[in-house]
Amino acid sequence: MTPMIFVTGGAGYVGAHCCKAFAAAGWNVVVYDSLYRGWRDFAKWGRLIEGDLRDADALSAALAEVRPDAVAHFAALAYVGESVGDPGTYYDVNTCGTLNLLQAMAKQGLDKIVFSSTCATYGSPERLPITEDTRQAPINPYGASKLFVERMLGDFGLAHGLRSVALRYFNAAGADPDGEIGERHAPETHLIPLAIAAARPGTSALTVFGDDFDTPDGTCIRDYIHVADLADAHVLALRHLFAGGASDVFNLGTETGTSVNGVIEAVEKVSGASVRHSYGPRREGDPAVLVASAAKARDILGWQPQRSDIATVIEHAWRWHQAESDRA
Ligand code: UDP
Repeated sequence: MTPMIFVTGGAGYVGAHCCKAFAAAGWNVVVYDSLYRGWRDFAKWGRLIEGDLRDADALSAALAEVRPDAVAHFAALAYVGESVGDPGTYYDVNTCGTLNLLQAMAKQGLDKIVFSSTCATYGSPERLPITEDTRQAPINPYGASKLFVERMLGDFGLAHGLRSVALRYFNAAGADPDGEIGERHAPETHLIPLAIAAARPGTSALTVFGDDFDTPDGTCIRDYIHVADLADAHVLALRHLFAGGASDVFNLGTETGTSVNGVIEAVEKVSGASVRHSYGPRREGDPAVLVASAAKARDILGWQPQRSDIATVIEHAWRWHQAESDRA
């Protein structure tokens, strides 16, 4: 029988790319999304149920109606800066909202979930690259709200037999290679879309947050992972659970870091335009370097990023943003 996947947040950036990958794997998809930060036109690989994680009754009713074989849980708030100013809302949506989901799943005997976790659960790690056994010590409420969920997954596993895969994303980037969906955030705070915007006439310049970090060019280094490679990892994680695999956690990154200046150069190469930018102060809570070890996902899930070199990431992102601005 064709598996049915219940996808919370399936109208968001990463969730929508995963829905496309699930459909390509031959699975059925139902999206549960409040559309608070998701997009109706991104929910095109299955039925959309409009609902909030915090509405426990609606969520439970949707699960009871759909009776999925597994849940892929993306719905969350994901701005670090916003989480510092408004931690309550982050814990409410990300942590309490997920508790509603896990309670409903336990009650209905649903026992498989893939969860969007984050490298923000590590905080500022002492050793690089970051392996999954690195101490998790988040330095902002966003990271903490996701770490609580990882803990709950473990506890629900012990108590109720839930099997879970938590995927700790590094910097999701790029867009669908076919151009059907891409990175669309409102407000946009992420480096790559802002650098692309700054390469176009009539838009505001990019501010680089700090050039005095302990890195070769002084700017922060991050591990940018193509969103379609992230989506592949979710398919493999669900296959792992369908095959009876045990609960686990995996980093999803490329093991390669790119500095902010490196991203600017890559955008200039792809666009042929200069990225207008200036250097400003550091952003609160930004560690100098975050680079993943992805050995575990490679060894256990057989995951191998295919499109995550920075040139391909930027090329796909550039194409998407060109098309978006043509549509506007
Ligand atoms: N960054 C920057 N200017 C911006 C946005 C981001 O210099 O306008 C830097 C930021 O300090 C970090 C990197 O770009 O080092 C990636 O930030 P982003 O917000 O894209 O992702 P995050 O790492 O916060 O998840």
